[in-house]
Amino acid sequence: MTPVTPVTLLGLGAMGAALAEALLKAGHATTVWNRSPGKADALVAQGATVAATPGDAIRAGELVIVCLFDHASVHEVLDPLAPDLAGRTLLNLTTTKPEQARELAVWAAEAGVAYLDGGIMAVPGMIGQPGASILYSGSAEVFGEHRALLDLWASSTYFGEDAGLASLYDFALLSAMYVMFAGFMHGAAMVAPAGVSAREFASMAAPWLTAMTGGFDGFGEVIDGGDYTVPGQQSLEFSNLGLFIEASAEQGVGAEPIAMVQRLIQRQLDAGHGGEGFARIIESIKHPA
Ligand code: NDP
Repeated sequence: MTPVTPVTLLGLGAMGAALAEALLKAGHATTVWNRSPGKADALVAQGATVAATPGDAIRAGELVIVCLFDHASVHEVLDPLAPDLAGRTLLNLTTTKPEQARELAVWAAEAGVAYLDGGIMAVPGMIGQPGASILYSGSAEVFGEHRALLDLWASSTYFGEDAGLASLYDFALLSAMYVMFAGFMHGAAMVAPAGVSAREFASMAAPWLTAMTGGFDGFGEVIDGGDYTVPGQQSLEFSNLGLFIEASAEQGVGAEPIAMVQRLIQRQLDAGHGGEGFARIIESIKHPA
């Protein structure tokens, strides 16, 4: 079946351009707009139509996709165009906080616009490739109606009508990723004075951390069960990371990433939970000091 939905895409940064390219490859009539001129040239060669203004772009498409820098830029572009958007469908793939996604969903509802929010779990080069994933929440009807189009970019997962959910999962997954990355950088900094290159360390860290992710499910079971005394866990006393902080200092490097983990542990030790499992540090996070 030939795809027929005329699509508009606002924002041709690295991500917007990758999204547009996948739509064009699949044969969607695609109108694009970007604040700075020149970014559409390669897409025009692939069949895109360039609009001179965001208003012209919106009026050309039934499904309007925005992939701009941040929440403020989305409002800056869309606020004056609410009357043009009325009766159309808006898909926001700009990274926003959950509360910002919810705020935009309310804004859209007041403007008579069907709204779906998305969180992209991929870099531009992964769009349309295996391994890319996009998380969605907001209108179930929009997700269902445009599912085939969404699947052109990535595997698509829908979380529910609360427009903030996709962003919540997105931020939770990225929070986990950034702390892992910081942990890798810390390890690389520790071994550097011993003449170990960061790439050499990477070749050891990748299989090690991959193996360690096997522990997530067990942590999950303990956390969901709410009993940190279940036998067989590494205790918080055993997990005391003071020596890691001293070893970092002896290498002449900072210890911030591991010191952060130690603070989470210490609060549970101070509260008398030393004999309980490591997963208990989630309580330090759930109940900030
Ligand atoms: P870029 O920095 O490459 O592009 C930003 C885009 O936003 C450009 O088109 C820019 O226009 C436009 N823009 C910025 N401010 C305004 C404004 N005030 N009014 C109008 N247009 C504006 O970013 P990406 O394309 O990489 O990212 C876009 C979104 O996708 C972001 O929210 C990002 O978090 C998200 N994302 C990106 C990923 C990535 O790996 N790149 C991964 C996952 C999500 P101009 O060309 O005129 O500057």
